[in-house]
This record gives sequence, C-alpha cells and structure tokens, in this order.
Amino acid sequence: MKLSLVVPCYNEAENVAAFQNATIEAFSGCGYDYEIVFVDDGSKDATLHQLRKLFQAQACPVKVISFSRNFGKEAAIFAGLHQASGDYVSFIDADLQQRPEIVRDMVKILDEDPQYDVVAAYQDRRGEGKVLSFFKKSFYKVINGLSDINLKSDASDFRTFRRSVADSILALGEYHRFSKGIFAWVGYETCFIPYLAQERFAGTTKWNFRKLLNYAIDGIIGYSTKPLRMATFLSGLSAVAAILYLIVVILQKLITGIDIPGYATIIVLILALGSMQLLCIGIIGEYVGRTFEQSKDRPVYLAKEVLTYDE
Ligand code: UDP
Ligand code: MG
Repeated sequence: MKLSLVVPCYNEAENVAAFQNATIEAFSGCGYDYEIVFVDDGSKDATLHQLRKLFQAQACPVKVISFSRNFGKEAAIFAGLHQASGDYVSFIDADLQQRPEIVRDMVKILDEDPQYDVVAAYQDRRGEGKVLSFFKKSFYKVINGLSDINLKSDASDFRTFRRSVADSILALGEYHRFSKGIFAWVGYETCFIPYLAQERFAGTTKWNFRKLLNYAIDGIIGYSTKPLRMATFLSGLSAVAAILYLIVVILQKLITGIDIPGYATIIVLILALGSMQLLCIGIIGEYVGRTFEQSKDRPVYLAKEVLTYDE
C-alpha cells in the first residue's frame, strides 16, 4: 500500500524541509510506503530552490512540480494529483497547520474500514475572528441552500482518499476548480474527523477577505444555476408591485381627485428597477464569463519543471 502526500506550496521556503521532517517522523516505523509530491505554485521566494534540494537528497521519496507562475492552490493540488501514484492520496498544506500524524490516522481508517473511501478533517475549533467565522457560516448556508451538493461546514481540503476517488477527481477537467464542491460532487462514502489546526510553522497565510469572497462566489456559481432564476422571481415581484401601486394611484385619483406629485416616486422606482436589472446582468455575466473561460479550454496549470523518480 502506497500513500502520496500532495503538498501545494506558495512561498513556503521555510516550511518545506520542516514539513518533510515531520512527515518522515510521523511515518517512520509504521510500515507504509509513501511519497511526498510538492507543487511549487510559482513561489516568489526560495521555495523551488529548497524543493530541489529535498529532491536531490531523497530523504524520503520526493517529487517536485513547479509552475510557470502562480495558478492558485486548486491548480496546485490538481497538478499534484496527476503525479501522485499512491493507492491512497492525501491533500495537506505545507505550513504544518495540518499535522502529518493525522494523515496516519486517516490512512488507518481507510485500511480498517472498507466502507469509507474518503477521510476528511474538519476544523474542531476556530482560532479565527468572529466576523470571518460569521461569513464562513453564511457561505455554507447559502451554497447548501442554492446548490444540489451538500457541503459540511468547517470541512477543509485536508483529506485522504482512495485511488478510485483520485481518478474520479482527475476526470473533472473544469477550469474554475472548487475542491470542496468537487469532493461533494464525486460522492463516495466520507468519514469526517475533527482536527485542531496548529499555528503556522513559518510565513503568513495567503488568504485575505477578498480572495475568500472570490473563492466563495466561485463555489456558488460553479455548483448552482439558481441565482439565474432570481431574475425571473424579481421580474414577477416588480410586476406585482407595479400593479398594486397602479391600483393605489387610481383609487387616490378617484377619491381625492387631485394629481399625485410623482417626482420622488419616479426617481425611487428608476433607481430600484435599475439596480435590480444591473444585479441580474451581473449574475448572468458571472456565468457567461465562466463559460467563456471554460470554452477557451486552457490547461488548469502550466508546469515548467517536473522532477520525478523511476517507480
Ligand atoms: N497555496 C498555494 N497557492 C496559493 C495559495 C496558497 O499553493 O496561491 C498553498 C500554501 O502554500 C499552503 C496552502 O495552500 O500550503 C494553504 O494556504 P494558507 O496556509 O495560506 O491558507 P490557510 O491555512 O491560512 O487557510
Ligand atoms: Mg495554512
């Protein structure tokens, strides 16, 4: 039985060696074959240099893929999956927030319980701020309400799964990748285990609020067409409002007989309808844009260098 650990790295020069050491320590003496597939996602620091050193030393089997530029974490794990040859594959971050020992526990669950194909870790307790936490919770509510897939809130990309699942994921060549959604879409029996995210070993997080928001929109647009239907509902709503208001105006005219001063009403209506229309165009634009991106059929990533060994 062989395990491949797929590790996306973006500016993680100080972490990769420590990550490898922690992995070797976690797996020493437990009898598993394993390899580490590092993906350098166009880092601007010395990450690639460090990874080359690890590849040359081969303290444990190491493969390295390096991108021509930064393509994002989703592309990085997709590239790693292409190179991973294990019967089990793990997605794990390079910053040691997710401990390799947990992967050992995940593998154990897969070994002992043939019913499960995926073991996913979810964050037990969040060390993050209330605002971010609130937005994350709202995101899961929105996406689960809108789409056909069901995402477990707090579940991370930190997962270990069987070859069959890896092959299913590789078969999905979509350009805008959202791995939480991909996992939910491919299905398979998933066992969720809690884990405690550690402090980052070195460096800083690559996520900020804007990136997270874009990621959330990618998830919602990628897995649901319900926002498009909103335009239909809004048109119905404004038609009903228009009819009701017309009745009010006619009654006012009949009862009081005076002209209704209309300036403010017209301005408010123009603004309200205009913004509704812009919103709907924006939503349609999101889908058209993604269709455009996908129709160009560009690769998800470009690897400029792949260091691998004979298996
Ligand atoms: N990462 C990547 N490409 C990116 C951003 C991040 O490969 O464009 C990697 C990063 O090196 C790390 C993992 O994705 O191994 C998670 O990133 P980070 O630790 O910044 O996210 P957080 O743990 O704060 O959610
Ligand atoms: Mg991290």
